[in-house]
Amino acid sequence: MTNSKPGTMVVSLDLELAWGRFDHHPLPILEHESLQERKHITPLLELFDRYDIPVTWAVVGHLMLEKCLRNRHGIAHPDLIPHAYYSWFPLDWYCFDPCTTVDAAPAWYAPDIVEWIRHARVRHEIGSHSFGHICYGDPECTPSAALADLNAALEAAARQGIVLKSFVFPRNQVGHLDLLKHFGLRSYRGAEPPLIRADNRLFNKTLRYLDQLLALRPRDVRAEEVLPGLWNLPGNHFFIARDGMRRMIPMASRVLKGKRGITHAVKTGGLYHLWFPPFNLNKDTEAMMSGLARIFEYAYRMREQGLLEILTMDDYARQLAREKQEGSPGMEESLLEQQTEAQLSV
Ligand SMILES: [Zn+2]
Repeated sequence: MTNSKPGTMVVSLDLELAWGRFDHHPLPILEHESLQERKHITPLLELFDRYDIPVTWAVVGHLMLEKCLRNRHGIAHPDLIPHAYYSWFPLDWYCFDPCTTVDAAPAWYAPDIVEWIRHARVRHEIGSHSFGHICYGDPECTPSAALADLNAALEAAARQGIVLKSFVFPRNQVGHLDLLKHFGLRSYRGAEPPLIRADNRLFNKTLRYLDQLLALRPRDVRAEEVLPGLWNLPGNHFFIARDGMRRMIPMASRVLKGKRGITHAVKTGGLYHLWFPPFNLNKDTEAMMSGLARIFEYAYRMREQGLLEILTMDDYARQLAREKQEGSPGMEESLLEQQTEAQLSV
């Protein structure tokens, strides 16, 4: 079955450095890993340049700061009220914030990375991954905590001349969508639908492992306008790291899964949404980069043939809004259908 509308590939990256996991890992390890993560940014930008792939960099807002200070009571970010509070992290959310400068703590600040992204040849999108990596979808996240966090993210971006339009929820925990809409964000990356719905954690973990090992085709996901003007663009391919048990998953599985996702998007006119945090490249970096390159090379060929578009989250959301307004998908070239039949192969 073919579709006259090209498929769409979206790539979104969660840039969080030390902010993503300070509740799970000792700080020295986290800071060491963040410095490793920093080293992947330039090669990634070069890779995107090579295949002309614009991506959405979902950046933790605090990383956009040059520096910050504690107040005289020792409180970090006292203007951000209230700080998020969760029973599973019974401390001030910003207790580990070093409150210094990017030079002194490059795991906690990264305005330099934002500049690198903005100066890349390809025009990338800078989106938001919240301000302090708080969990919006957690039942304990109050509307006022989410509002304060989102406000801080928008302000940090505005000081860099950036208007945030796309959002990636920390830990993919979706919540407070009304706030996103209120502040004019147009899209977010929803969680990948599970292979099978089950409550057993170990069973789910095993399924996810097998899903990656066997390179099953990424789940069929569709963009959905969940509130007027706010689109959910679910992820459907997490480019997994090569650490722990995941070392056993050959690179070929990651690549095949990507190609299957692209092929399916081309066949159906649907979405292939690849995502990962750059620290996933910390282990076996060379092989991971070459795996990504093989996926991008395939996407590049599909785009050359007019079968695939490669868009940032916001470009895709704007395209969907336009198509909705026009009342049709709009991509009707009959030649495309013939090409699709002839060229789909992995
Ligand atoms: Zn701070």
